[in-house]
Amino acid sequence: MQIVSQIKISALTWYRLMRALRIRGNGVRESGAFLLGRQGTSKITDFICYDALDPHCLDTGIIQFDGSGYVPLWEHCERQSLQVLADTHTHPGSWTGQSELDQTNPMIVTKGHIALIIPTYAQNRMQGLKGVGIYEYLGAHKWRMWDPKDHAVTITLL
Ligand SMILES: [Zn+2]
Repeated sequence: MQIVSQIKISALTWYRLMRALRIRGNGVRESGAFLLGRQGTSKITDFICYDALDPHCLDTGIIQFDGSGYVPLWEHCERQSLQVLADTHTHPGSWTGQSELDQTNPMIVTKGHIALIIPTYAQNRMQGLKGVGIYEYLGAHKWRMWDPKDHAVTITLL
């Protein structure tokens, strides 16, 4: 099987991301973020949390992102010459499968887009890629699941 998109993220950015998700979810609710990189690259250099774009999207405990939140997202990307490479959100327990909502509502409807699901509301301070659900969007609500060992996503030192 060919991996359409491979993304890289530095250990520092990963740590900052896990910390942001952990604080926002506070062990009681899902949180999430868009993962951003320079246009034409596959390296994630920044992220923007869902609630920074839609302040009420975490209110019910399950992420419900309002479509109007894409407007400030695209403005931010345009200003900073960034593109959305992936998205991520947390789940309560160790289950990082996709819910029906996750499957039928990709945050970005582009083939090759990567979605990461982080276990235990990202409360594990040592969270690496182990236990993370890695999904590549194939279009038409179809996804391919990758094992962390497949290097669809790589955490790099720099
Ligand atoms: Zn989910």
